[in-house]
Amino acid sequence: MKTYVYGFAAFDDPDRNLLGGKGADLAEMVRLGLPVPPGFTITTEACLYYLKNGSAPTELARQLDEHLAALEHQAGRRFGDAADPLLVSVRSGAAISMPGMMETVLNVGLNDITVHGLAERTGDARFALDSYRRLIQMFGETVFGVPVGVYGGALDAIKEQRGVADDLGLDAGALQDLIDQYHRLTKEHVGRTIPQDPREQLDLAVIAVFGSWNTERARAYRRHQGISDDLATAVNVQAMVFGNLGDHSGSGVCFTRDPATGAYGDYGEYLPTAQGEDVVSGVRTAVPLSELHTIDPAAYRRLRSLLGALERHYRDVCDVEFTIEDGMLWILQTRIGKRSAEAAFQLAHDFVEEGTITLDEALSRVTGDQLAHLMFPRLDTSGGELPLTTGLGASPGSAVGRVALDSTTAAEWAAHGDAVVLVRKETRPDDLPGMLAAAGVLTSRGGRTSHAAVVARGLGRPCVCGAGELEIDLDARSVVVPGGPTLAEGDVISIDGDTGDVYAGALPVADSPVVRWLEGDVVDTPLVTAVSTLMAHADAVRRLRVRANADTGADAERAVRFGAEGIGLTRTEHMFLGERRQLIERVIVAEDPAEQADALAALLPIQRSDFAAIFAAMDGLPVTIRLIDPPLHEFLPDLTEVSVRVALAEQEGGASERDTRLLAEVRRLHEENPMMGMRGVRLAIVVPGLIETQARAALEAAAAHRRAGGSVELEIMVPLLTTAGELAVVRDTVAKVAREVEEELGEPVEYRLGAMIETPRAALVADEIVGDASFLSFGTNDLTQMTWGLSRDDAESTFLPQYVAAGIVRTSPFETIDVPGVGHLVRTAADLARRADPSVTMGVCGEHGGDPASIGFFDEIGLDYVSCSPFRVPVARLEAGRAALQHKPVAPAADGEGDAP
Ligand code: PEP
Ligand code: MG
Repeated sequence: MKTYVYGFAAFDDPDRNLLGGKGADLAEMVRLGLPVPPGFTITTEACLYYLKNGSAPTELARQLDEHLAALEHQAGRRFGDAADPLLVSVRSGAAISMPGMMETVLNVGLNDITVHGLAERTGDARFALDSYRRLIQMFGETVFGVPVGVYGGALDAIKEQRGVADDLGLDAGALQDLIDQYHRLTKEHVGRTIPQDPREQLDLAVIAVFGSWNTERARAYRRHQGISDDLATAVNVQAMVFGNLGDHSGSGVCFTRDPATGAYGDYGEYLPTAQGEDVVSGVRTAVPLSELHTIDPAAYRRLRSLLGALERHYRDVCDVEFTIEDGMLWILQTRIGKRSAEAAFQLAHDFVEEGTITLDEALSRVTGDQLAHLMFPRLDTSGGELPLTTGLGASPGSAVGRVALDSTTAAEWAAHGDAVVLVRKETRPDDLPGMLAAAGVLTSRGGRTSHAAVVARGLGRPCVCGAGELEIDLDARSVVVPGGPTLAEGDVISIDGDTGDVYAGALPVADSPVVRWLEGDVVDTPLVTAVSTLMAHADAVRRLRVRANADTGADAERAVRFGAEGIGLTRTEHMFLGERRQLIERVIVAEDPAEQADALAALLPIQRSDFAAIFAAMDGLPVTIRLIDPPLHEFLPDLTEVSVRVALAEQEGGASERDTRLLAEVRRLHEENPMMGMRGVRLAIVVPGLIETQARAALEAAAAHRRAGGSVELEIMVPLLTTAGELAVVRDTVAKVAREVEEELGEPVEYRLGAMIETPRAALVADEIVGDASFLSFGTNDLTQMTWGLSRDDAESTFLPQYVAAGIVRTSPFETIDVPGVGHLVRTAADLARRADPSVTMGVCGEHGGDPASIGFFDEIGLDYVSCSPFRVPVARLEAGRAALQHKPVAPAADGEGDAP
C-alpha cells in the first residue's frame, strides 16, 4: 500500500518532489534538532491522486488517523479535547516555492466547545476567541469559498463600532460578538456554518489545499515562472504555536542576510501579539527585527543563533518564519531566500570568502540574467509610477528623453544637447542617425529581432519594441495611448528596456557601476569585486569562446574591453545606412556597367576604412566579415514615396530622369516576401560587383593591417545559403578577387571562407556546404524564422504573446533557442559538418548567442563559440562558465559545512 503521509522526522534526506519544499525543509530542521512544532506531511502524490480522481485516495484517512494519534502523543494534547485541545495548521507547500499562491488554514481543531478549553488552559479568553474567529474566516474563505471581504467587512465594522484602531483593541466580548456574526455570515453564504467536528475540519482543509493548486492565480504564477502544472502541492499539518498568546508572544519573518544587497545584519520584521499571517498581510505595522532585541532579548539571542545554524547548514541565505509563544521560540518554516541580482553576486562571493562554498558553486548560484540586470541603468520606480503602456523589452536598460518622431528631429534635438527617445512605428536603415543620437528607442511594431531591436542592442541603446497600443500620428506629431494621455512630440517619456514599460515624464535613472568597471574605470565597490571574481572564474572554467557582433571600430573596441575574443559577425549592410545609403542606391540604379563600376569604386575606400578600424580594435583576433545580406529594396526609398514624388513632378512638367529610373528600380525590386526574396547569397550571385568590392576592401584592409605590424584572422562569411552550389560561386568570386589583390600588392593574402547556416535546407546539407567552408556560423534568427514559418519582424508583437499566455510556447523562439525544433537542426548540422570535416570551426551569431537560457545548449552540442552584441559579451562569458560546470559535479568546500546546532 502506498504511503501518503510522513512524520517530519521520517527522513535523513528528504525528497522535495514528494514532500514539497516546505515539508522537506521542516524535515531537515527536525533532523537538525531545531525547535519545530511537531507535525506531518501529506505527499504531492496524494494531491496528484486527488487532482486526477476528484477525491482523496482511500488509504489517506487511515494514515491520517495514525499520524494524528502520533502527533497527539508528541504534543501531549488530543484533537477535539474539550479541556485542552490540540490545534493544527494546514499549509500548502509545492516542490518549487509559490509564495502566496495557495492556501493555508490555521487553528484547525477549534469549535464552539474547545474554544472555551483553550481559554481555560491559557487563562486568556481573548486569545482563544481571537484564534477561533481567525479559523472561521480562513476556513470560510478557503474551504467554502466565501468571498474575501465578507468577514473583513464585519471585523472593520465592529472595530469602528467599538471605537478601536486595530484588532488588538477588541476585547473578549467583542470577539464573541464577532464569532456569532461570522457564523451567521457563513450560513448566509454557504447554507451551513463551519464543521464542529475537528476531524471534518481537517479533512476539508486538506482537500481545499489540494484544490488550491489549480486556482487561477496559482496557474498564472506557474506559467509566468515556467513551473510545470504536473508537480502538485504537498500539505503540511503541524501543531499550532501561538504568537497571539499575550504580551510575551509574537510572530516574525526574517532573512539571515539582506536579500536586496547581500549585506550581513538583521533583516526582517516582528509583530508582537500576532499570528504569522498578520505580519504578511500588514493588518498592523510590524517593527524591524532589531527591535526584538529590546522586546525580548533572550528570544532574540536564541533566534540569531538559530539563524546562524540554518545558514551554516544550508550554506546559503535562509528566509525564516518564526513564532514566539510565551517566550518560547519556534521555527515554523525555512527556505533558501530569494534575492536580488546584486545580492546574488554579493552572497556568492561572500560565502566563498567565508569558506562556505567553492568558487564553482558560487558561479552556479549567479545567472547571466542577473548580470545583465546589473549592467544597465535602471529606472527608479520606487515612487509607485504606473506605466502608460508595455511593449517588448528588446534591449535592456532605461532611457529618459523627449519624444522625437523621426530620425532627423532626434538627431537635431540631440545635437542641441537634449536627451531624446526616438519613437517610430518601426525603424528602417534610414533611421540610424536618429537611433545613434537617441538615448533610447521605442517602436509600436516589431519583435525582438526587428531592425530596431537588433540595431539598438548592437549600439547598447535601451529599446522597447512592439508597444502595439501606441498610435503614432505623424501629421499631428503626437502619440496617443488609448484611454490615456496624448503625448505631443517633445514631451518627456521614460522607457525600461528590461520590462518593456513606458512611462510619461522623467523617472530618475541610476548608472551601473558594473559597466563603468567593464569600461575600464577603477570602481572599488563590494559588488564590483564580487562580479569581477565570478567573471574571472567563469573565464577560467569555460570551454565555449565568446565573440562579439560588431559593425564599427568603436563597437569592436568596446567588445574587446568587455572580453570578446574576436568578432563573429560584422553586418556589413549596417555600414551603408544613413548618408551612405545613397552609395548602394547608385550601384543599384546604375544604367550601365561603367556607372556601376564608378559607384562601386566610391564604396571601396569607405568600406576599407570601416574594416581597418575593426582590425585595429581586434588586433590578433578572428574577425568575421559577412557579405551584404538584406533585400536590396531596403537601400532604396519607399515605393509610395517615390511614386508620389514622380507623379507630382510629372504634373508639373516632368520628373527627373534619375527619379524615373529610381522608381523603375524600386518597382522591379519590390517583393511580396522580401525576407524570402533576393537577399543573402542570392545578391552575391545576381550583383557580384557588390561582394567583389566588399571582399577586396576586406583583403586590402587586412593586408594593410599586417603590413603595419598587426595581425588579423580574416574570415569572410556568406549569408543565407541553401545549397553548396551557391557557396561554390562565391568561393570562386572571392578567390578571383584575392588573386587580383595578391598580384597588385605583390604579397600573399590570407582569409578563411565560411558559411552561415540559417535556412533549414542548409542545416540538412551542412556536410556538403562544409566542403567549401572552413567555418560555419548558425544564423539562428533566420533559422528560427524559416523553421517556424514565423516572421521575425512581426510575430513577437502580434500573436506570439497569446501563444505564450496560452502556454502553447513557454517563451518566444526568437528569444530562447527552441531546442527540439531549431536546436535539433543546429545539432544535426553540427554533427554532419564535423563528420565531414573534423577541423571545422562552428559558432552561433543569431541573437540566441547572447541569450543566457540558450548558451548552455550551444555548449552541450560542442559549438566552438557564441557571438553576441558587445553588451552581452560579459553575460555570455558568465553563462559559458556556468554551462561548463554543469558537465561536472559541484565539489563541496573543504570545510564550512555547518553541523546541527
Ligand atoms: C541570423 O539570421 O541569425 C543572423 C545572425 O543574421 P541577421 O540577423 O543579420 O539576419
Ligand atoms: Mg540572418
